[in-house]
Amino acid sequence: MDCEKCGHSNPDVAEFCSYCGNTMLSKAGSPVSISVTPKKHSEVGIASIITAVVAGLLALVSLTGAVILVSQGKGQSDPSMALCGCGMLLAFPIFIIGGILGLIGLFIQNRIKTTAIVGIILNVLPCLMLLVLIIIGLIKSGKIPGPAEMP
Ligand SMILES: [Zn+2]
Repeated sequence: MDCEKCGHSNPDVAEFCSYCGNTMLSKAGSPVSISVTPKKHSEVGIASIITAVVAGLLALVSLTGAVILVSQGKGQSDPSMALCGCGMLLAFPIFIIGGILGLIGLFIQNRIKTTAIVGIILNVLPCLMLLVLIIIGLIKSGKIPGPAEMP
């Protein structure tokens, strides 16, 4: 077999050209280790999970703060109560961004989809739970009428 690079004649079993050192494996059809790039974790998926954690912490801190303030008898007009409310509302856009990042991760080729799926779940579920909690809170505080009060 002749070398692909320099044309030097080498024995068929040669792995390398004895003249220039060029690899002969691929041409001979010998077991060439086909480099299969292992699927990587989706970067966007990881970003989605991180976003979910950030939004989750923000929501949790705000919610805990609100619960503590309520237990201390503080009302809606209390500035720290308003701060907690802002924190909870701020968590929503972050959850939504995280959810979108997760969705993008689902469509990126050659990436582990699990990361993106976990990211979406981590963003969507707490987001819905927070929404339900806020609605319950609003109903209890009388800001919006509850189902029983509706005509
Ligand atoms: Zn050669």
